[in-house]
Amino acid sequence: MARTINFNPGPATLPLPALERAQRELLDIEGSGMSIIEHSHRGKIFEAIHNEALELTRELLAVPKGYSVLFLQGGASQQFAVVPMNLLKPGQSADFLVTGVWAKSALKEAKIVGTARAAATTEVDGKFVRVPKQSELELDPNAAYVHITTNNTIFGTQWHTLPDVGRVPLIADMSSDIMWRPLDVAKFGLIYAGAQKNLGPSGLVVVIVKDELVDAGRSDIPTIFQYRTHRDTNSLYHTPPTFSIYLYRNVLLEMKRAGGLGAVEKLNRAKAELLYQAIDARPDLYRAPVEKASRSTMNIVFNLPTEELEKEFLKSAEQAGMVGLKGHRSVGGVRVSIYNAAPIAWVESLVAFMAEFKRTT
Ligand code: PMP
Repeated sequence: MARTINFNPGPATLPLPALERAQRELLDIEGSGMSIIEHSHRGKIFEAIHNEALELTRELLAVPKGYSVLFLQGGASQQFAVVPMNLLKPGQSADFLVTGVWAKSALKEAKIVGTARAAATTEVDGKFVRVPKQSELELDPNAAYVHITTNNTIFGTQWHTLPDVGRVPLIADMSSDIMWRPLDVAKFGLIYAGAQKNLGPSGLVVVIVKDELVDAGRSDIPTIFQYRTHRDTNSLYHTPPTFSIYLYRNVLLEMKRAGGLGAVEKLNRAKAELLYQAIDARPDLYRAPVEKASRSTMNIVFNLPTEELEKEFLKSAEQAGMVGLKGHRSVGGVRVSIYNAAPIAWVESLVAFMAEFKRTT
């Protein structure tokens, strides 16, 4: 079976062994005569997978003591609301570093819940081509928290050095770059990510949160939205997305087998470097709008001289078996999403295609 070269921005390609295992086990898991999808979330078979998935998260990210891992639903978008519902109290204000469309959405939702402000924005004419420098941040030392989006999926920018936010808790939307490399979790108050890019299928949101923040969170909001509800029930307060968690477990096992996040980072850097070299090698044809220091290793965006050429590029690439390259509908251009599971051979194919496209000599 030929696998399509899939550069989708999310849901995105997943490691083949993780899918093949799901295929083998789909109708009968562990000789139970039932699919994992048909098992109770309170039964032994699912519970073991659930706990293994939580444990693998802790292991791969070296989550320190004093932090909990939660499995939630509602996408990263729900966290835009749930973070301020829990952590932004009356009389407090939260700071947002606005670096793209998703960061803006997070700020907008927080403003519905309480007081929130942009402590920096790099928006120029509706576009973002970099993340801000430390000197540009107008941080409120009394803020309840500072929110960042570590990788901006649409504009293809990424924070390579975390902002210094002093003693204020740092909250990060890592939906499009969680586990792309090892991480010092202790630098964060809370991390959240929709699973559907680096980690697995959609339907699961992974939250890593400092227990102090959970304990101090509001308790006058609906039970289902309180982090403590999920922390105190091992993320089994209600029916979790069992199949998503099962596949997430399979994906994390593959990352572990590949050598952990250090090995994952090496490969991700090599893939991104190959692509940026291919863009920079033909300045007549390709232009990366993002400033070099802010270039993403996960979503690589570039333009061609005209929209017609971009259309032709996308069409020819598709004919050559490569899909998912169209830039986000709000910005156009080309976007190559090379999450953890995209093999370097796919990037090599694309780079070869880019080198030959419209070559006249
Ligand atoms: N944050 C980022 C950085 C994203 O890339 C996305 C989706 N692409 C979201 C949030 C929204 O995620 P969801 O669709 O899971 O709500």
